[in-house]
Amino acid sequence: MPGGAGETYDVVVVGAGVVGCAIARALARYPLRVALVEAADDVGEGSSKANTAILHTGFDASPGTLEAGLVRAGHRLLTGYAAEAGIPVEPVGALLVAWDETQRAALPGLAAKAARNGHHATRIIDAAELRRREPHLGPGALGALAVPGESLVCPWSTTLAYATQAVRSGVRLLLGCRVTGIAPRPGAPHRLTTTRGPLTARFLVNACGLHADRFDALLGVRDFAVTPRRGQLLVYDKPARSLVRHILLPVPGPLGKGVLVAPTVYGNVLLGPTAEDLDDRAATGTTADGLAGLRERGARIVPALLDEEVTAAYAGLRAATGREDYRCAARPDRRYVTVGGIRSTGLSASLALAEHVLGLLAECGLRTGPERPLAPVRMPNLGEAFPRPYRDAAAIARDPAFGTVVCPCEHVTLGEVRAALASDLPPAGLGGLRRRTRAGAGRCQGGHCRPALRALSEEYGKGAGTR
Ligand SMILES: Cc1cc2nc3c(=O)[nH]c(=O)nc-3n(C[C@H](O)[C@H](O)[C@H](O)COP(=O)(O)OP(=O)(O)OC[C@H]3O[C@@H](n4cnc5c(N)ncnc54)[C@H](O)[C@@H]3O)c2cc1C
Repeated sequence: MPGGAGETYDVVVVGAGVVGCAIARALARYPLRVALVEAADDVGEGSSKANTAILHTGFDASPGTLEAGLVRAGHRLLTGYAAEAGIPVEPVGALLVAWDETQRAALPGLAAKAARNGHHATRIIDAAELRRREPHLGPGALGALAVPGESLVCPWSTTLAYATQAVRSGVRLLLGCRVTGIAPRPGAPHRLTTTRGPLTARFLVNACGLHADRFDALLGVRDFAVTPRRGQLLVYDKPARSLVRHILLPVPGPLGKGVLVAPTVYGNVLLGPTAEDLDDRAATGTTADGLAGLRERGARIVPALLDEEVTAAYAGLRAATGREDYRCAARPDRRYVTVGGIRSTGLSASLALAEHVLGLLAECGLRTGPERPLAPVRMPNLGEAFPRPYRDAAAIARDPAFGTVVCPCEHVTLGEVRAALASDLPPAGLGGLRRRTRAGAGRCQGGHCRPALRALSEEYGKGAGTR
């Protein structure tokens, strides 16, 4: 493993989803030798790439849980960080819509719960105000709980910003590197077997998402079992954006937050997710039944949505563990921290989770040394609500490549594609390029631009590997 084999790291973080990347970034503030190890050939290839992209306030979390505190803190931290790092966020707010008397009767209780979680700005609105605020809502809505602060966020550039900043600040990112074994060495650093050779770690962090329980088992820890809970979603094309102003949430049920209709920062509208408990941790396919069920729900929420064109359908898996909370634990005897059960709020909580993990590592005996500033990061903007290069006369004047559109559906320019391919974290394939630029994410799903993108990747790409 170039630059990795046989090296002893102070901390090895396993799993480069949004959570592992946030932890690596937090550790990069200190003079430590840190490695971020990922089985896939890019960061953010697990649950972190396929979610509903909402920066939650935590208003509906179970009060007093670790998750409630970390989502609340994470919302504040990520809102600030996004502005600094160029991650698009749109604070459109949410409306929790009541469709029957039982749901309407539940709204005061939900407002009280929000208050217990520190959110005092929620407000119950009647049917008339609801219709004024959401004119395309289906008939029969009786009222809603308005939740200011619930925001749209770009999940792709969040993970990439953390990882880029970590790498620029000295963290070693090892991709295509699955940890397959840990030799028991009481009192000595962990000796990891990986698909790219051995690694040694004084302290170890498990940020393995859906596989956190299996990783725990490598160290003989058996605290919880992960049940993959699939969420299927439909993405509607940009003309649908004018139909929806807020994040439209249902009154929550036992399987979580339920099916929502929400805009995205890319100018689309999402309908979903489903909530299906499965056995297969790789079942990220969509199903005819799942999508039909979503359409049925969507027809009630915003009927006109169903007349719009669907550009994509996708599914992600949440790491459910049978408890309405995260499963974070420090094991000082093993100098080991588990960050598990980060189910449906990990994007929102990520920065606060990272701070929490620093505390858990300190409990395990890690002495970080003095804090130092991180290398700055500014992500290319992927959000429709902010200036995009194809409209930026100054950028085009500096480099005409920013005026040459290579993905017409999403208005992605040659300049953006080249910059992504030459970045500190270049994509390993066209999926990664899409998450960095939006190229291929539009109505034709790459049908038009794929050959050009492939040719550009070959011409300018650095490919994935050890960084
Ligand atoms: C449908 C859906 C909707 C959601 N909506 C939202 C939302 O709106 N807002 C929100 O805040 N959150 C949302 N979430 C939750 C959020 O996406 C997750 O909480 C978050 O992505 C979890 O990140 P993670 O880093 O823990 O896991 P992952 O992103 O899955 O990363 C774990 C990584 O560990 C790697 N790994 C595993 N085992 C090993 C090993 N042995 N060696 C090396 N690498 C390994 C995997 O390859 C993977 O890349 C949603 C989730 C889903 C599925």
